[in-house]
Amino acid sequence: MTTDLQNPALTLYGTVWCSDCKRSKKFLGEQRVHYAYVDIEEDADAAALVERLNNGHKSVPTIVFPDGSFLVEPSNTALAEKLGLTTRAKLSYYDLIVVGGGPAGLTAALYAAREGMDVLVLERSAFGGQASVTERLENFPGFPEGITGGEFADRLKQQAERFGVELVQAVTVKGVYREGESVYVRLSTGGEVGARAMVIATGSNYRRLDVPGEAGLIGAGVHFCATCDGPFYRGRDIVVVGGGNSAAEEALFLARFASSITMLVRGDALRASQIIIDKVLREPRIKIRYGTRITALHGEKKLAAVTVAGKDTGTTEDLHPAAVFVFIGLSPNAEWVGEAIPRDAQGFIITDERLMTGCPGIFAAGDVRRGATKQVASAVGEGATAALMVREYLRHARG
Ligand SMILES: Cc1cc2nc3c(=O)[nH]c(=O)nc-3n(C[C@H](O)[C@H](O)[C@H](O)COP(=O)(O)OP(=O)(O)OC[C@H]3O[C@@H](n4cnc5c(N)ncnc54)[C@H](O)[C@@H]3O)c2cc1C
Repeated sequence: MTTDLQNPALTLYGTVWCSDCKRSKKFLGEQRVHYAYVDIEEDADAAALVERLNNGHKSVPTIVFPDGSFLVEPSNTALAEKLGLTTRAKLSYYDLIVVGGGPAGLTAALYAAREGMDVLVLERSAFGGQASVTERLENFPGFPEGITGGEFADRLKQQAERFGVELVQAVTVKGVYREGESVYVRLSTGGEVGARAMVIATGSNYRRLDVPGEAGLIGAGVHFCATCDGPFYRGRDIVVVGGGNSAAEEALFLARFASSITMLVRGDALRASQIIIDKVLREPRIKIRYGTRITALHGEKKLAAVTVAGKDTGTTEDLHPAAVFVFIGLSPNAEWVGEAIPRDAQGFIITDERLMTGCPGIFAAGDVRRGATKQVASAVGEGATAALMVREYLRHARG
């Protein structure tokens, strides 16, 4: 059965302490699948339904689909297949494998496919990358009124499909190696796929606070994606951590749902673009506390309190928001390359002027690359450049 990804009739029954529920919610959020969440510890009818479906057991997550069918504690791959997503490559060998289906990866793929190459894109979540969770892109050239991140991502995906790019999602690339004139990737679903060349476009990810209590509360009151989790906090008080563009934009987005937002900013000013700062300062639901940082998060099954320290005063106090949304920067999604490809001290992939990495035939583009400017327009430009450099590389490889 293929589920309409925008149909909210899908229901996830879970509890706040269940880690598989968090994983499934995260997966559905990343795939931009609309769903209703019901906590069976707070809803007796829901608990009874789950018991009935599971022969008397309260197994969670139990995910019920619009046609009445259901999955119990599914793996991400099983969930992806149920949703009708393509999770397996058709071939075992391609001209080009692109790892990561964000703006850089999809652009590299569509350029290479137009050049006549067989191209496979491997994406661990939904296509569009960070751009797809951006509320509105106001600075992408050619869209004077701006464009929503979701629409931009859909358009890029459609364009790649039109040129014959093979798109596979819900598959994480776990490793890479070179053998002879070929490169190979190891997949989370098991098995490997090979190619004559590769573009790594795995972007970057939200940085964690790295304070006591954080790890156990991720998905249970501590979040990194406003688009995915903001709607759960309608009418509640929220803390947003960070003072850059992302934090400011996400605070504005969350202000649609939350009754109040406290922004905790380490420095003494916001570091966002002036247009966004002006919007934040005009939003009555957002209050900013400068010179503050979180030192601990508390809660057994869900977030109960946040300890905040004053940078200069050294005093601490506990806040009790319903959720904390963390936007304090990005770290590259490149650990999976291991020792195969040289990276800098922060883990960004090092490339030469052709965007080729230290491993012949493997190129890198976009936010994962050292020196990238972390903008969609730049990522798209680097994707196009990488594809053209791959063409040159393969031309010489052909001899
Ligand atoms: C909230 C927010 C707002 C932003 N607003 C703007 C804006 O207004 N204007 C602007 O120009 N830029 C904005 N940006 C930045 C912009 O979105 C990024 O610079 C751009 O998306 C980078 O593109 P990319 O393709 O390099 O990486 P990404 O967009 O990060 O895409 C990388 C993809 O690779 C996938 N991936 C990672 N690891 C693996 C793996 N091991 N296997 C398979 N797949 C993997 C990821 O799931 C992801 O889809 C914003 C970013 C955020 C977070």
